Amino acid sequence: MTDDLVQLLAVQDLDTTITQLQHRRAALRESSGLAVVERELAALDAERADATARRAVLTATQKDLEQQIAVISERRSAIEQRMYASTSSSGRDLQAMNDEVRHLTDRRAELEELELVAMLDQDPIDAELAALRERAAPLEERATELRRHVAGDQSEIDAALGEAVTARAAAAALLPIALSDRYETLRARLKGTGAARLVGTHCDGCHLELSSGEVEKIRALPPGEAATCEQCGRILVPA
Ligand SMILES: [Zn+2]
Repeated sequence: MTDDLVQLLAVQDLDTTITQLQHRRAALRESSGLAVVERELAALDAERADATARRAVLTATQKDLEQQIAVISERRSAIEQRMYASTSSSGRDLQAMNDEVRHLTDRRAELEELELVAMLDQDPIDAELAALRERAAPLEERATELRRHVAGDQSEIDAALGEAVTARAAAAALLPIALSDRYETLRARLKGTGAARLVGTHCDGCHLELSSGEVEKIRALPPGEAATCEQCGRILVPA
């Protein structure tokens, strides 16, 4: 094995390390359990939003009824004042005003009844919201703790990634351009692995066994000449 092929395997190993670190980093939220907790919290949030919306409808109804009641009360007071102040009204006018007062009193009682219902209907929703808050509290705590862990793991991985990327750039700079180009082309096509070791009679890129004739041919190649795995097409370096 010549220095170039040793160097190529070093680049491949660093590329593999970098890919593994990137995958580990991307999977941290799932692997730490944070993703599960966040999904549970999101579900509780949706329930809370639903309950809050139902409560808002009742509050709006209550407010609307209160306004209607206020208008009716004002109108009734005005009529009553006119009745008590009036000396000139006819008996018929007084009777009409009396009827109107009675009608407004009944209407107000009806609206007050509806207002009470709107108020009482809010109680179970308030209980629901309190229960949701109670269920969310320990989950929020757990999420905070997990986020701290994830952030810690992320900075560890980032440090390792930084080192690997620097080492990779230095190692890749030493490769002959033709070999480097061939490696990059294969790597792009073959899931990140462009160079593999010949371990015994196996290619460790595709894990398939090579014929003994093929193995002999590869081992007999002049130093520095890169072989190709006939199964997967990767650059094959005798280990
Ligand atoms: Zn192979």
